[in-house]
Amino acid sequence: MADPRGFLTTPRKTPTRRPVDVRITDWREVYTEFGADQLERQAGRCMDCGIPFCHSGCPLGNLIPEWNDLVHSGDWRAAAERLHATNNFPEFTGRLCPAPCESACVLGISQDPVTIKQVEVEIINRAWAEGWVPPRRPSPGAQAAGQKVAVIGSGPAGLAAAQQLTRAGHTVTVFERADAPGGLLRYGIPEFKMEKRHLDRRLIQMLAEGTEFRCGIEAGVDVTAAELRTDYAAVVLACGATVPRGLEVPGADFGGIHQAMDYLPLANRAVATAAGEPAISARGRHTVIIGGGDTGADCLGTALRQGAASVTQLEILPRPPDRRPASQPWPTYPAIFRVSGAHEEGGERVYAASTQRFVGDDAGQVSGLVLTEVTPSAGGFAPVPGTEREVRCDLVLLAMGFTGAERGPLLTGLGVEFDGRGNVARDGSFATSVPGVFVAGDAGRGQSLIVWAIAEGRSAAAAVDEYLCGETSLPAPIGPATAPLR
Ligand SMILES: Cc1cc2nc3c(=O)[nH]c(=O)nc-3n(C[C@H](O)[C@H](O)[C@H](O)COP(=O)(O)OP(=O)(O)OC[C@H]3O[C@@H](n4cnc5c(N)ncnc54)[C@H](O)[C@@H]3O)c2cc1C
Ligand code: SF4
Repeated sequence: MADPRGFLTTPRKTPTRRPVDVRITDWREVYTEFGADQLERQAGRCMDCGIPFCHSGCPLGNLIPEWNDLVHSGDWRAAAERLHATNNFPEFTGRLCPAPCESACVLGISQDPVTIKQVEVEIINRAWAEGWVPPRRPSPGAQAAGQKVAVIGSGPAGLAAAQQLTRAGHTVTVFERADAPGGLLRYGIPEFKMEKRHLDRRLIQMLAEGTEFRCGIEAGVDVTAAELRTDYAAVVLACGATVPRGLEVPGADFGGIHQAMDYLPLANRAVATAAGEPAISARGRHTVIIGGGDTGADCLGTALRQGAASVTQLEILPRPPDRRPASQPWPTYPAIFRVSGAHEEGGERVYAASTQRFVGDDAGQVSGLVLTEVTPSAGGFAPVPGTEREVRCDLVLLAMGFTGAERGPLLTGLGVEFDGRGNVARDGSFATSVPGVFVAGDAGRGQSLIVWAIAEGRSAAAAVDEYLCGETSLPAPIGPATAPLR
């Protein structure tokens, strides 16, 4: 146990955010580190519970009490090894995960939970700084038995599957249609949430281990579905759930109304290349974001940094409660009111609001949005009479989620079946309806989280290894139907 009295003597601390007026002038990450002393004390709050519910809260099954204990006793190198035993990319989750483990922490029943996510990110930061994250090449014996595997998509699911399969001895090629690998980690999530140098450093490790990346190649077009099936012994589809939900209201075709995933990649590219103003920018514009989730918050922080005249974020659901409601007891991950870094920086959040129509000017550009307050009703939301009002806007960003995987040349060419929710259908072994073709991440699970995508990639890799070799020693943290704690 890290410190038998730690949870009695040390209050929980969360990392500090850089001052708002400073951070909105740059794109660097918002959070600062604790430093070794403070982190070791925070890790010492872990009670090393007989049944650590944090393991079940974390889809990767991260061995949280073990690395808390090791950090508390100052053995950071061993902590980094235990962390990598279950997580290929702790630098991604340690920055971006909403930390369902902390909601499941036993200490959280009566006190503030352990700052698990911060311990995670500082272990991996230290490990990189100390040179404890070398490439792990497969043994010559494993390589001799390996086969050729294609991974389609280089988001967290594809990267995790590729790293596991490469290390198991297979010859893995990752096909990515974007100009650089990373999926939503690179072109969805802004720099201020995760600086891309963390992604690039991990990609260098993967290249050194032997994973091949072919970017700018659209599978299904530049390499056909038939070629993938004949040239590779197995194919892993990790192509994400990229079809955005639309908003079918009058005026939706006015200029100035864009999907979030048309806006964010341009902004991220402009930051990465220092290319100046992107083709869609919020600079000087009254901006409305429709959708109150992660994607909406990323649009908010981006619009503020671009110099928007104003930002309003609309959410159709009512404002969540400040504290865990009785209907969402420990150890579930509750829907409570959260203030992300971007929300702290500015903008107005409007809850229980539904867009009725857009208003446009003579040039066909959006100039306003008419909304009404709504209340939940059977089968949806009912407008509250007399609450209709117009919000001025000349840029609208739609961030209302994704409806599933793209039914383009790749998936239609392969002939995979889909489930009722628009995702690629799979059996208990992540196998699609087409022999030798597997699916992992958002493409199979639907819109989710990075931690789930990594867990899916690891499990799908184990399934592929077993399919190719008849047995596997790769870990499988989740099954295709594993759900968050409810
Ligand atoms: C804006 C935004 C912010 C988010 N923020 C967070 C967050 O803070 N924390 C969190 O946990 N989750 C977050 N998420 C969710 C998280 O990013 C996803 O759940 C995760 O990235 C899914 O991983 P994936 O590997 O399945 O797919 P993706 O990351 O979507 O990667 C799929 C890749 O496949 C490629 N591809 C698709 N079709 C083809 C083809 N035919 N040929 C070649 N390549 C192809 C795409 O170009 C893409 O690079 C966010 C999502 C969005 C949209
Ligand atoms: S990956 Fe997420 S859920 Fe798992 S330990 Fe890290 S912060 Fe917690």
